[in-house]
Amino acid sequence: MLIAVGVVTYCAAGLEDENAAHTRVVVLGTGNPSAAPERWGPALAVVVNDRAYLVDCGPGVVRRAAAAEKNGIAALKANELKIVFITHLHSDHTLGYPDLIFSPWVLGRKEPLEAYGPRGLKSMTTHIEKAWREDVQVRQRGFEQANANGYKVNVHAVRAGVVYRDENVTVTAFPVKHGIWKEAYGYKFETKDRRIVISGDTAPTDEVVKACNGCDVLLHEVYNPNGEELKEEHWKEYFRTFHTSPAELGEIARQARPKLLVVYHQSLEKLPEADLVEQIKKEYSGNWISAKDLDVY
Ligand SMILES: [Zn+2]
Ligand SMILES: [Zn+2]
Repeated sequence: MLIAVGVVTYCAAGLEDENAAHTRVVVLGTGNPSAAPERWGPALAVVVNDRAYLVDCGPGVVRRAAAAEKNGIAALKANELKIVFITHLHSDHTLGYPDLIFSPWVLGRKEPLEAYGPRGLKSMTTHIEKAWREDVQVRQRGFEQANANGYKVNVHAVRAGVVYRDENVTVTAFPVKHGIWKEAYGYKFETKDRRIVISGDTAPTDEVVKACNGCDVLLHEVYNPNGEELKEEHWKEYFRTFHTSPAELGEIARQARPKLLVVYHQSLEKLPEADLVEQIKKEYSGNWISAKDLDVY
């Protein structure tokens, strides 16, 4: 019951009175590799004073942004998507990267995309540019007369610490523990009115606790350990080293003390969301919510 009320309150605050909060988090996609039709690829947007800062670009990110624009968030118009912070290079978090590079350009973005992420992002970007080179040439030389720079990408390799700053926001990257990935990051967004922390994909780590430390909103991943697959030892080991269980999440949240915990990137493991929600309820009594696509906080 508490959870349902939470959704209504936070969504209403975001959509009805744009002046009430200058900083909002739009959950574009809460999904993971499973092809759940109602949960699109992982992607978030921190929207500050009508500028959007994306985090991750799962499948469908540009269309999800368009859906949020239709819901009243003008900053998520396709040709306004100009900056993204990528947590790590797992395919479910980056399959929308070519979409984010090319679609906004075709729809009128004139500036290069600014992309922040782990070191391998540069190589991934170079390969994508090569893969679509003919498309770029046809659109520029043919009747479409596409602009000269909107398909380009400026890649910025991220290290722990402040990675970006402008008049709206300071963005800090912190390292997280995602199994055998050499580099995976969470991000902290500090604006004039809010501190928002995004875990990215991670097993429990103090880095999230330190980054949040009483923050306004903590967005954290979670998996359901009751899943059938988790009876197998290698899957148990996979989730233990790559992701966070409800019990671990409860402990993190108690230490991190967010005003609101938003659970996203839920690995439901073929069980109803309610099964996961029940487990988290037992582990954490603070203010929290299990996110759905297009929620605004
Ligand atoms: Zn991952
Ligand atoms: Zn993931």
